[in-house]
Amino acid sequence: MKRPTKFVFVTGGVLSGVGKGITAASIGNILKARGLSVNLQKCDPYLNVDAGTLNPREHGECFVTKDGAETDLDLGHYERFLDQELTSSSSLMSGRVLLKVIQDERAGLYKGEDVQIIPHLTAAIQDYIINAGEGFDVHIVEIGGTVGDYESLSFIEAIRELGIRVGRENCLYVHVVYLPFLGTSKETKTKPAQNSVRELRGLGISPDILVARSEEMPVESVREKLSLFCGVAPRAIAMLPNASSIYEVPLTLEDTDIADVITEQLDLKVKKPDLKAWREVVKRAQTKHSRKVTVGIVAKYMDNQDTYMSVFEALKSAALWNDTDIELKWVDAEKIEKNDVAEMLKGCDGIVVPGGFGTRGLEGKITAAQYALKNKLPYLGLCLGLQMAVIAAARNAGLTDASTKELNPAAKDLVITTMEGQEGKENTGGTMRLGNYDCNLAAGSLAQKVYKADKIVERHRHRYECNNDYRDQYESWGIRASGTSPDNHLVEIIEGIDHPYFLSSQFHPEFKSRPNRPHPMFNGFIEYLAGKK
Ligand code: GLN
Repeated sequence: MKRPTKFVFVTGGVLSGVGKGITAASIGNILKARGLSVNLQKCDPYLNVDAGTLNPREHGECFVTKDGAETDLDLGHYERFLDQELTSSSSLMSGRVLLKVIQDERAGLYKGEDVQIIPHLTAAIQDYIINAGEGFDVHIVEIGGTVGDYESLSFIEAIRELGIRVGRENCLYVHVVYLPFLGTSKETKTKPAQNSVRELRGLGISPDILVARSEEMPVESVREKLSLFCGVAPRAIAMLPNASSIYEVPLTLEDTDIADVITEQLDLKVKKPDLKAWREVVKRAQTKHSRKVTVGIVAKYMDNQDTYMSVFEALKSAALWNDTDIELKWVDAEKIEKNDVAEMLKGCDGIVVPGGFGTRGLEGKITAAQYALKNKLPYLGLCLGLQMAVIAAARNAGLTDASTKELNPAAKDLVITTMEGQEGKENTGGTMRLGNYDCNLAAGSLAQKVYKADKIVERHRHRYECNNDYRDQYESWGIRASGTSPDNHLVEIIEGIDHPYFLSSQFHPEFKSRPNRPHPMFNGFIEYLAGKK
């Protein structure tokens, strides 16, 4: 008989932003280390259908799955902590479920019934959750927001009902709370956590496990107090003080009893945990290295690092695995437009031009790429960064009006443009080239050298492409297309010809990078920079 999937639900209370996503991902990590197959899913209360139309400045990076779903950045943490590619089923926003229920109603599938939040919407949510968990030993579901938010009520009700639908013995509820420290009385306060658990109980869910976040490790009596007032056994309470690196969190949780509590309560047969590879990641993250590289990130969102979360993580991992410290220097692309580019890039061993949308800062990015080409400054272009590189090469070669349709549709030389059939969809959701596409690498190229492969598969999220009308001019501009789609119709990678390290991809390699396995595009770049030290 097939074993039933076991569900672990992760809710949050007191405050948002205390690391519920990292906690969910870390639980996944330590369960997977015990030989279990694990999936993770984020339920977000936004009425958006997906994260594709959300502003990254407020919401952080839009993470893309291999099957092309545009999702919340927490999925990036999930993939990195699980070392596993997820699919669109791992991301569920309210808008998607509402759309489905309303479409079903219009199609007459409810056969005259009143369509209601309970049971119809909550059943639809459960269907999505159960389908996402299909085939896995454990399915971990994080509910976005904090308990008691008006917006997330239907998700909370859905996971309560799910305990009845699949059996309470197959479900476990983890509640992540925050314990404030009061400077005046030098005390860790548990009242907000107690209130939050009461709120959750009021909604019909008694947590099986509490994860208590705090700045510092609280005194032991705090656990007893939490246990008494929240009705959770002391060994099912995990203290999680601030960590110096997020990668430590799985190891901190491993040192508590909660993995045992989960596996016992869900009756899961497990092996001894194998966390060797992960301990190596943490060790490297804590080591101070003798070499250091400084990488300039030429970008437009300077005030929120979450916007480039996966890029940042990929660079960091590559540095750690090359025994190198890394300093990221944020270079405001808009400022390059009004200032001396050489001055602004001073001190950078290499630059990265990450992905982006819209016209702001594009001229600055093109100028930076022109400078990198002319001055042999190492360059890594990611999606938009490739498009800027092609324009830069064209302009350096004398096509002074070269541009992208995104910036100037009337430009004389649109070296980057839309493909046939894409016109007029610039502001709509889900219409870009999204998810996995195959790419062939040219023999003898830098791309082939860093990948040590001839064929690769990478994830995309963009609308514009290299204009094939200009491809036969590339060599005269000092660049070449060293990665193309198998039919040779789409340019996937550009590199400099007479340049020590100039490499750009139309795809987003950062999504496939792992803390324990840096992506070749980032590894190659950092390896080159570190080799010069
Ligand atoms: N704005 C560009 C495009 O749509 C690049 C997108 C990106 O960097 N993700 O093609």
